[in-house]
Amino acid sequence: MPRPTILDPMFRSLRSIKGIGPQLSALLTRFFGAPEGQEAIALDLLMHMPTGVIDRRRMSGISHAYHGLVATLRVHIDRHQPPPSGKPHLPHRVFAHDETGEIQLVFFRAQSGWVERALPVGEERYVSGEIGFFQGEKQITHPDYIVEVEKFADLPLVEPVYPLTHGLSSKALTKAIRQITSELPILPEWVPPATLAGRNWPTFDAAMRSVHQPETPENGELWSPARMRLAYDEYFAGQLALQLVRSTMVSARGIARAFTGALTDKVAAALPFTLTKGQRGALDDIRADLASPDRMSRLIQGDVGSGKTVVALLAMAAVAESGAQSTLMAPTELLAAQHYRTLKPLAEAAGLGIVLLTGKMSAAERRPALAGLADGSIAIAVGTHALFQSGVEFADLGLTVVDEQHRFGVHQRLALSEKGRTTDLLVMTATPIPRTLVLTHFGDMAVSLLREKPAGRQPIDTAVLSIGDYPRVIERLQARLAEGTQAFWVCPLVEESETLDVVSAEDRFAELQKLFGTRVALIHGRMSGAQKQATMGAFAAGETQLLVATTVIEVGVDVPNATIMIIEHAERFGLAQLHQLRGRVGRGSARSACLLLYKDPLSETARARLDTIRSTEDGFIIAERDLELRGQGDLLGTRQSGMPGYRLAVPDVHRHLLDFAHDDAMAALTANPGLVGPEGEALRTLLYLFRKDLAIPLIRAG
Ligand code: ADP
Ligand code: MG
Repeated sequence: MPRPTILDPMFRSLRSIKGIGPQLSALLTRFFGAPEGQEAIALDLLMHMPTGVIDRRRMSGISHAYHGLVATLRVHIDRHQPPPSGKPHLPHRVFAHDETGEIQLVFFRAQSGWVERALPVGEERYVSGEIGFFQGEKQITHPDYIVEVEKFADLPLVEPVYPLTHGLSSKALTKAIRQITSELPILPEWVPPATLAGRNWPTFDAAMRSVHQPETPENGELWSPARMRLAYDEYFAGQLALQLVRSTMVSARGIARAFTGALTDKVAAALPFTLTKGQRGALDDIRADLASPDRMSRLIQGDVGSGKTVVALLAMAAVAESGAQSTLMAPTELLAAQHYRTLKPLAEAAGLGIVLLTGKMSAAERRPALAGLADGSIAIAVGTHALFQSGVEFADLGLTVVDEQHRFGVHQRLALSEKGRTTDLLVMTATPIPRTLVLTHFGDMAVSLLREKPAGRQPIDTAVLSIGDYPRVIERLQARLAEGTQAFWVCPLVEESETLDVVSAEDRFAELQKLFGTRVALIHGRMSGAQKQATMGAFAAGETQLLVATTVIEVGVDVPNATIMIIEHAERFGLAQLHQLRGRVGRGSARSACLLLYKDPLSETARARLDTIRSTEDGFIIAERDLELRGQGDLLGTRQSGMPGYRLAVPDVHRHLLDFAHDDAMAALTANPGLVGPEGEALRTLLYLFRKDLAIPLIRAG
């Protein structure tokens, strides 16, 4: 079923919005983290929630506009006092009054002529901004708004404040969002009447207007009816999608597979180590699942480095014994290529054909791989999402393995369950997730845990140091690099902005390069896949020794010879992230070190985070501590945690609505499994609106 046309205005390109050109559109696409290869759309702006408001409703005249408050004044412009020539650092002052008093409007380094044009002498203007004092005189420095009297309506008296990123102005963003909210269609109501009853919830479009164009500051509060409704909508869409996935999973019959053990034995024999107890346990679980006639849906949880990949390979070998094929999906090209490199020799030792498929491959490169998958001569395909582009045919796909790391979401899982309707599913995740959350976010998946580390691993020495110790850190690093050691240097997270992350990494790189020359390399998310791969390849091969990186290295990369991890501004990283980053070292048999550099002053929770990381390497303990320190809300809400991020719901406040949404979704699907009729139509609209439309094909026919 195609997307209901009523949603078209929300799915249009950002460039169709007044004031948004290609550049701003690209910036917003990065800011909103649109899926690979896709552009942000109007919907992304609509779902960008303000974090608060500026109340400009104080309009009772200059004499009542008090220091530190934001006020809106209708003033008469009396005279200008530009900075004396040769003193450009002095401000341009504009003297104005109303019937209650006098005020100065102050501008620093204003473009010549601009102030005169904006505030012509003898005329009246509305100005709005924060009231200040200077030498006993009331003033507004750089008013936020200056509008002509007849354009008063353009001045937002209650102005939403949005999260911004470098290069994105609040004015441009607000204007674009206003345009979208004022053109919102009225959508069919999907909230069940019983849930709606007595709650005083507005319709979806009214809720969006109330949040983005609030008339009072209360309109947009997290506990306002509008925000409650929108949070519920988001949960409801998620729950509907998950339950659709779950019901197809449960209803789908798998194949009871029989194994000879021949191929798994060969792979096991090619391994330079013996399996840990956890690995053996996970494999037994998987084999039992595969042998049963039900479809497998299993989650393997284990820290980075706990050996999940090997388990996946042995599962794929088992499937090959029964004559079927497998795919291994990684979240990035880098990881897919790395998996391929690791698995290839082991698979080939057992005579298993294996290919790598990525989005960057040319048609000619793909052709032999595709042919081998279609005729069944290749048993294992490793790749990214590209694997699911049309044109990949399998002779007999039996098992799909998803390496979630931390980036995959429910969305991808939907894509998978759609594509591989009848295949068994194995998901690997490095984020330890409490059972209740597994239920809500992963559906009814069975779980295998890899708790212990493979034998021979050395503990990692973790130290917490102030950035003030930088010279000492460099001295030690110099000594260790001279011994041939390899090291990562992770640069600080800057806001939510990849652009600024890159800048900080580039600065650090430039400085380290002066000391270490060509032994240093730089990697960040803005580089092309090929560039990243080349840089990683050179580092893995030992051609470079020090890798300066943004958090792109968080996901994946296995360089056993790298034994030092330095994290700058460690206080800005979340616990899960620090844990994942540290997991990049300590992968070989040599002793590794992790240095957490922080900048004073440390907040109490930041100190607690760093202490936790220093005191343990157990991912499950760290996850529990994380839950304590941040509350479940944050764990659920943040991208780093690997859990699906919410845009409208703030779990700390809205968590209780999840239970309603869960029950309502269940009731809706039980009563109307085919989602037919007007109610069904409304629910489908909801799924599209929250981009859960991959679940649409899972709706059972009539
Ligand atoms: P994960 O996918 O859980 O992050 P990997 O499967 O990539 O972990 O394993 C990390 C490293 O540990 C790899 O180099 C792998 O060869 C090695 N390894 C896996 N299992 C064992 C084991 N049982 N004993 C020793 N080393 C192991
Ligand atoms: Mg792995």
